[in-house]
Amino acid sequence: MALKASQINDETKWQDLTEGLQIYEPATSKTFETGEWRTQTPVFDEEKCKQCLLCVPYCPDSCIPVVDGKRRAFDLMHCKGCGICVKACPFDAISMKPGK
Ligand code: SF4
Ligand code: SF4
Repeated sequence: MALKASQINDETKWQDLTEGLQIYEPATSKTFETGEWRTQTPVFDEEKCKQCLLCVPYCPDSCIPVVDGKRRAFDLMHCKGCGICVKACPFDAISMKPGK
């Protein structure tokens, strides 16, 4: 019986891995802070934001949380700094700054 992704660690024997290393469940990156890879950081200007939420579906890493219908601060633990959200925002409410 294949282990769940959350049960796999450095001690796991290859015989216990899924056949062909197929992945049967999502979300392993939730616990891995991929935001460490970032070389630029998006900055959100709340004054300029019109809450159109257009930036949300454009983020390839789902790093723009929406709570009660409003966008909130970036999830910088997972944001890779690609800058797509800057291009997506029609109100110039997002800019990039160098570094983390
Ligand atoms: S910079 Fe890229 S990864 Fe980060 S919030 Fe914007 S779109 Fe998402
Ligand atoms: S696209 Fe711009 S204005 Fe719209 S929610 Fe995102 S930051 Fe705010």
